[in-house]
Amino acid sequence: MKVELLPSSIPVSEKQFLVSFLVNDEVAIDAGAVGLLADLSRQERVRHVFITHEHIDHVATLPILLENVYNPGPDCVELLGLEDVLDFIHRDIFNGRVWPDFFALSTGDDRFVRGTPLTPLEPVVRAGLTVTPIPVAHCVDTLGFLVDDGKAAVAFPSDTGPTDVLWTHLAAAPRLDVVFLEISFPNRHADLAEATGHHCPATFAAEVSKLDRDLRWIVVHRKARYADEIARELAALRLPNVELVKPGVPYVF
Ligand SMILES: [Zn+2]
Ligand SMILES: [Zn+2]
Repeated sequence: MKVELLPSSIPVSEKQFLVSFLVNDEVAIDAGAVGLLADLSRQERVRHVFITHEHIDHVATLPILLENVYNPGPDCVELLGLEDVLDFIHRDIFNGRVWPDFFALSTGDDRFVRGTPLTPLEPVVRAGLTVTPIPVAHCVDTLGFLVDDGKAAVAFPSDTGPTDVLWTHLAAAPRLDVVFLEISFPNRHADLAEATGHHCPATFAAEVSKLDRDLRWIVVHRKARYADEIARELAALRLPNVELVKPGVPYVF
């Protein structure tokens, strides 16, 4: 399975402002940066966009993606997420003011987008990938995703603070190669991390210890102004198998 965290800074750097992972080029997990791919054929290959939650760093360029890849006909991008989240995206972004109502414009044979509500813990299969939505602990209802191609499995917990449901589920998964887990704040902002449903290095380490499996941990979602401080605090913990994500670099699992 090929996984890439798309870059979201100009020029490309390790700073991460937005969230979009591409899986095997056809599936996107979140739409923070996917509409910025300079190679439009890469945008056109994305047929299924799984949305973890409605925060702007996760949906920022969804309107741009749908605009860029529109091709008259019944074939269109599928948007998958919690029913409420699909509704927020429709009412708050595609509302005819912020952006045209691509949902209303998709009633005939010409479709911009098709919404598919997800039910937590009910897997769906898209593009040869089994994708299981798992609730996590953020300040709004948020889904993490476990993506399994039959040979490798990758977990994308999205934005979350400490949780048990996710780790219980991942402990029982038939295979698991890597978790892309977030750290948003340094330890001095542990209170803020707790209040907003995010991790600091200390709570990250506690989560890692909840999962007794041999796998890679790749750290994502460091807020740019704290990125170096988080990296220093994480290094001091000397956790095995933990690395910082490299945006724009394809990982193969
Ligand atoms: Zn969020
Ligand atoms: Zn976020």
